[in-house]
Amino acid sequence: MSKSKLADKVAVITGGNSGIGLATVRLFKEHGASVVIVGRNPKSLEKAKRELGENTLALQADVSKVDQIDDVMSQTKEVFGRIDVLFANAGVSDCPPIQKTEEAFFDFIMGINVKGVFFTFIRALPLLSRGASVIFTSSVANNRGSLGDPLYAATKAAVRSLARTLAADDEVLEKGIRVNCVSPGCIQTPLTVQDTPEMQAAINKYIESAVPMKRWGQPEDVAKAALYLACADSAYLTGSEIAVDGGLGQI
Ligand code: NAP
Repeated sequence: MSKSKLADKVAVITGGNSGIGLATVRLFKEHGASVVIVGRNPKSLEKAKRELGENTLALQADVSKVDQIDDVMSQTKEVFGRIDVLFANAGVSDCPPIQKTEEAFFDFIMGINVKGVFFTFIRALPLLSRGASVIFTSSVANNRGSLGDPLYAATKAAVRSLARTLAADDEVLEKGIRVNCVSPGCIQTPLTVQDTPEMQAAINKYIESAVPMKRWGQPEDVAKAALYLACADSAYLTGSEIAVDGGLGQI
């Protein structure tokens, strides 16, 4: 595979300090991109920045706060002047049992997974270059029931819907900007590490029985799909979705 699919491109990746986002940052850098990583945890941001070296900006921001997204965009503008690839990937998952769900949790998960994705896109739009690629991280949970995590599934369905509608926006089309989703299934990241060995064994057993390929996916599997959506190879895809789920949502 050619190693310069993103030569001279500027990519902003939310959640770029962990899991799927970090694997994508590494792959984008290998392909020549400069990257802006956005996350909340200063330690993992600093660690990622040290690993990735030059042409990397690591910014601490909470994507559920629009003023903090604005800071990310103005610092990106100051350093790089534009955005060629926007990967709105930051997200949280674990939900409390439905009867114990408080209003504050509802606002928390919607704030990060839906409001965060929407405003990351809206506030990046003035900086997006002609022909830019926008990728949202949805989930296999976007079109099926997700017992135990109803709000998570609802947020990811909302993200899938946003990609369809925003891709058709007049300004977006006029600038040749494409908007697509990557929808992971069960991927081994810090998000899916369980609290106890018993819980981990139970989820491993679920994966063996429910995932047609009978195994976890790796963050790098999703990063490769993100690379395809980011670069010119996917020039005729918009409003679309790539599922990276070992068949979980398909079969
Ligand atoms: P992860 O390793 O926990 O990464 C989540 C990332 O999101 C972290 O970098 C985290 O940064 C960032 N983040 C969370 N809340 C944020 C906020 N308010 N502001 C800024 N950054 C925030 O998990 P992952 O599995 O890579 O998840 C990445 C995306 O994939 C998520 O949208 C998730 O829903 C989706 N997904 C994952 C799976 C899976 O099986 N792993 C399946 C389907 C979809 P900080 O730690 O610094 O806050």
